[in-house]
Amino acid sequence: MSMEQNIAQILITEEQIKNRIRELGEVLTAEYADKDPVIVGVLKGVVVFYADMIREIRVPCQLDFMWLSSYAGTNSTGSLLVRQDLKTDIRGRHVLILEDIFDTGTSLDFTVRHLQEKGPASIKICTLLDKPERRRPGITLQADYVGFTIPNAFVVGYGLDYDEKYRNLPYVGILKPEVYEK
Ligand code: 5GP
Ligand code: MG
Repeated sequence: MSMEQNIAQILITEEQIKNRIRELGEVLTAEYADKDPVIVGVLKGVVVFYADMIREIRVPCQLDFMWLSSYAGTNSTGSLLVRQDLKTDIRGRHVLILEDIFDTGTSLDFTVRHLQEKGPASIKICTLLDKPERRRPGITLQADYVGFTIPNAFVVGYGLDYDEKYRNLPYVGILKPEVYEK
């Protein structure tokens, strides 16, 4: 059974993603010239976007990663923990967080608070996808750079999974509801 046949609709094509990343790259290259940023990725949904995005940010930089997990097995509880922390000392450094999707905001809010405690010079957020309709009340955090604002639908591909599958689809698609309602 192919992955493609479980996709109801391609929301953002490979080409649209590529073009948008190039545009964001120009903006981020200007923003971070001479700032020697630390570019932080939150695993693992971000890996595909991360790999493409960093190659369009044409400044000297360092790469590092964090891995979060939730306390319980279920999501959206708001209780997260750091499963793997940064290896880089970010005190006094300019930090750029790359994210796959800004949904309820729970994980980005947690990530920013966690990194803030380390005393960086600045923290900015660049998210490929933003689903503002889903934001949890009380989250005032905003992304500094957004690839695409999308409607409230569950999407997969380009790093995003359903049950750890579909991350390797080259586009962002909407999963057929019958796939996860079974
Ligand atoms: P948050 O709700 O904390 O903003 O997002 C937490 C995580 O939920 C994201 O990093 C992502 O892994 C996952 N997530 C949120 N919305 C979607 C979606 O539409 N599709 C997929 N595959 N994952 C999502
Ligand atoms: Mg996920």
